[in-house]
Amino acid sequence: MNTQPTLYRSIPFFEQTFPEIPADSVDVPNLRAYIASLHLGHVKCNPSYGIKHVIQNVKDQTGYDVPYQKAWYSLKMAREIVYGTWESSVQKLPAYLGAIQKYNPGTIVEWKHRGFQASTVVDEETYPSWKWFLQQLSRHVIRGQRKMCLISDRHGRLIKAVREGPDFVSPHGVHRYCLRHVCSNFNSTIKNVVLKDLCWQAGSEYQLRKFNRIMEEIKKHDVKAFAYLDQINKEKWTASHDGGCRCGILTTNMSECINGVLKGARRLPVSALVEITLECTVYYFHVRAIKGKKMLQNNQLWTDFACKMFISWQQKAVEHTVTKYSHAQQSALVQTKRQGRHGMNTHVVKIANRECSCGKWNQFGIHCSHAQKVCGAYNISAASMVKDYYDVMAYNNTYSKHFEPVQSEDYWDDPNF
Ligand SMILES: [Zn+2]
Repeated sequence: MNTQPTLYRSIPFFEQTFPEIPADSVDVPNLRAYIASLHLGHVKCNPSYGIKHVIQNVKDQTGYDVPYQKAWYSLKMAREIVYGTWESSVQKLPAYLGAIQKYNPGTIVEWKHRGFQASTVVDEETYPSWKWFLQQLSRHVIRGQRKMCLISDRHGRLIKAVREGPDFVSPHGVHRYCLRHVCSNFNSTIKNVVLKDLCWQAGSEYQLRKFNRIMEEIKKHDVKAFAYLDQINKEKWTASHDGGCRCGILTTNMSECINGVLKGARRLPVSALVEITLECTVYYFHVRAIKGKKMLQNNQLWTDFACKMFISWQQKAVEHTVTKYSHAQQSALVQTKRQGRHGMNTHVVKIANRECSCGKWNQFGIHCSHAQKVCGAYNISAASMVKDYYDVMAYNNTYSKHFEPVQSEDYWDDPNF
């Protein structure tokens, strides 16, 4: 597991809101069981299926207005039938993780817990849990073999843990801030949407001269706002000072999109949470394996993102003019076309160094329109200019890994953790 489960002894979530219904009506259990049975499929397909859905569904199917409390207990029953109780789920977890490992050799399970009498699992963003998570990342993923760029918000406990993890400190790796979080924190202090917009522009600009210009504009509006941004390490929040580590990724939206997939599963018992995470991962790989095969069949060289960027810059390159300089460096000066009040910019391209002064080649690992113009002038093949992580073969290698289903509990062994 990638996160450290922190287990607490507590009242189950369901029973925190409602007292027990007095068993003075013999039909209550049957009615609850009946309503629960109507919803087993819904609960299985949609973990976030809620009480209001139960009430509406019963109304639609039977015309009966089920009281809120009965709907609530029925939903609890349906969830327990599908996903087990909180207690049984916690007890099942070690054996279930062991089974995933048994049927999928190579699976890594790091087991750390605080007692077994728990019924709620809380993933807290504390300093020890971040530290533990980063240690596992270093141990099992990075393994001293690659330079890592970690993009996160500016949570103090996370920053402390990152500073202590050598893999995220130069020269082994880097830590960058999510620009959306920087803008949001900036706006909480400055409270000005115009300045918030300028903050985003400053952070997302690739050229140093443009970054400086935007910062001057912020200073003219509000000296305090400028001072706020100026004291944050520019390497960490601006694309213009990043040095190409972020690969064009400015925010943590990508990881939050994964969180979105699992959102409905958050309040499920822990083993169900693991099971759904596994199912989502299997599906994620399955879809991409098919896509990878299709790209290979179409003789596509790079992934869709890289192809799209390349073609869009190729079309722009047609309008540039180029003046060749050093043949040894394959350097040149590129001028863009005038477009109204814009354009007529000059950029220095050095193919030998894989760089253009616009900053985009370095950031995206795909040669920009200026560099493409210079490649054409020196008759250099485009294929060698794009970073190998966009290679369709690399994409295929990543997603060709497969998972095996876990057999029923009768075949599980006692885990050794
Ligand atoms: Zn360029």
